[in-house]
Amino acid sequence: MSAYAAPLEDLRFLFEEVLDFDNGMAALFPDLGIDTALAMSALEEAGHFCADVLHPLNRSGDEEGCRLEAGQVVTATGFREAYAGFVAAGWAGLSGDPAYGGQGLPRTLQLALDEMVSATNMSFGLFPGLTRGATEALAHHADDTIKATYLSKMISGEWTGVMALTEASAGTDLGLLSTRAVPNGDGSYAVTGTKIFISSGDHDFGGNIVHLVLARLPDAPKGVKGISLFVVPKFLVNPDGSLGARNPVHVGSLEHKMGIHAQPTCVMNYEGATGWLVGEANRGLAAMFTMMNAERLFVGIQGLGVAHAAYQTAASYAKERLQGRSPDGTTAPAPIIVHADVRRMLLTIRAFVEPARALALWTATQMDRAGHHPDADTRRQADGLVALLTPVIKAAFTDFALESTVLAQQVFGGHGYIRETGVEQLVRDARITQIYEGTNGVQAADLAGRKLLMEGGRLPEAFFAQIAADLAAARLVPGAAEIAGPVADALDRLRTLTADLQRHGEDVVRTGAAATDYLRFFALVALGWMWVRMAAASLSKGTETTPFHRAKVDLARFFMAKLLPQTLGLEQSIKAGPATLMALVGDLF
Ligand SMILES: Cc1cc2nc3c(=O)[nH]c(=O)nc-3n(C[C@H](O)[C@H](O)[C@H](O)COP(=O)(O)OP(=O)(O)OC[C@H]3O[C@@H](n4cnc5c(N)ncnc54)[C@H](O)[C@@H]3O)c2cc1C
Repeated sequence: MSAYAAPLEDLRFLFEEVLDFDNGMAALFPDLGIDTALAMSALEEAGHFCADVLHPLNRSGDEEGCRLEAGQVVTATGFREAYAGFVAAGWAGLSGDPAYGGQGLPRTLQLALDEMVSATNMSFGLFPGLTRGATEALAHHADDTIKATYLSKMISGEWTGVMALTEASAGTDLGLLSTRAVPNGDGSYAVTGTKIFISSGDHDFGGNIVHLVLARLPDAPKGVKGISLFVVPKFLVNPDGSLGARNPVHVGSLEHKMGIHAQPTCVMNYEGATGWLVGEANRGLAAMFTMMNAERLFVGIQGLGVAHAAYQTAASYAKERLQGRSPDGTTAPAPIIVHADVRRMLLTIRAFVEPARALALWTATQMDRAGHHPDADTRRQADGLVALLTPVIKAAFTDFALESTVLAQQVFGGHGYIRETGVEQLVRDARITQIYEGTNGVQAADLAGRKLLMEGGRLPEAFFAQIAADLAAARLVPGAAEIAGPVADALDRLRTLTADLQRHGEDVVRTGAAATDYLRFFALVALGWMWVRMAAASLSKGTETTPFHRAKVDLARFFMAKLLPQTLGLEQSIKAGPATLMALVGDLF
């Protein structure tokens, strides 16, 4: 596996030339004095940490995995120290609420950090990633006592967070869950049940482990309207904030799995464990969605990170590996990067990674607006755009990520199937991102069946109007019109498909049959939009174009010629409707 290089040049380009970071952040965070220079110096430091500390542990962590000793998880060698280093450097609290000791820096920086952590060590990244989501759920829904007890220690990273939803019989449909919570009579509850597949369920990093558990109160209605959210710590917390008695929250076993071996995925038994209600009784799923939405974006960023890692390793291999003759016949053996098919694979990965990073950061700026803009209407609109894009980022980024890791593996030929090159680990690690945090099928259903209809169906058009405005502006930049044209055409077709889905919103089968194709179509347009913005910014430099900017324009053209046309096939498939999917009767499967 080649060394990891943080995408600092690309981040600087996006901040300075595409996203107008300085003006945007000055308006939203006037007291922080945050600008590109400050952001880049923080991200440079983060890049060093990821490359020097997390990346070397990725392979050894995969080989060693986690183990259970006397009921406690022991993480792979070096993880405990790496986590301590991550916390000591302040990375855990980067975007955390300053009222609880966080640094309060923009989400835009947080997402850039998340990408680097995920690129270098997906297993590690889940510890802080889940903690942050749990913190957000508590900040939004818990009472002041719970907030005072947990938030500052979780934001600093001293204590970690866990999301405990899934049970053997309740995965996608959480309405089927059966974990019980019975009042103890003192304001607390006794939580009893078994959860499976719980990431970061236990570890040996020290501190407390704060489980957010979905459970049912006695006499709760059946289904999703009878679910409540509880905070259940591994150690009870004394009034002075120190750790008290051990709560009966036990690891039943560790799951043996395809990838992310250094991440302890646990079966958790809550054996009358003491917990406290978060938010209103029977409204737990809505509260948990604060965490789930945060994690969905985080998982999309995991996809981006692992795809970038795959690109780096495959590109450096392709420049070194000598095989065959160059197409002009002059060099033999030639590095495999001379072959059109190898170039196709590398360019396909990169043509996804770069606009995905841009789209993620643009979405993060919307999160910053939603949290900090003085105007309530602007905050609401930004929040709507984030809601619309969350399933797109989760599902499309992770689908493209798996495709990217497989392409990178293919660049390595047989050596990609052998463990020591490290690329097969990326394939195994990437695979889970399509499954957990709501499968990609469920994300597609969320987009096509719910998000398109939210706010009276206005959300997608608000997004499309922004794209259309940027395309119109780009057409004025010399050389950019030919790049913007194909996206404008795809956008028109997407608008028509969207209106059609909205019109038939109540037809669940029709929507379900279209959903996955529709989400990919939507994502290709969004990525194309980002290519137009990046290409227009690069072309607007005129004669001062650098090799970096020329590459942006070349890649934008590649995307328009080779990847965006997928929308034509997707459109046909969507228009074919559900008939062929539903025709085969059950017994014939
Ligand atoms: C490594 C790992 C880590 C995990 N970490 C956590 C964690 O930290 N906390 C936690 O609570 N859970 C966690 N999970 C659980 C994960 O989120 C679930 O596995 C996932 O949500 C799917 O649930 P399921 O496995 O029961 O699949 P099912 O719900 O049985 O789904 C099976 C298939 O049916 C499809 N399907 C189901 N319902 C529908 C529908 N309504 N419409 C269309 N298609 C549908 C799905 O898309 C999927 O393809 C983890 C899982 C793994 C493997």
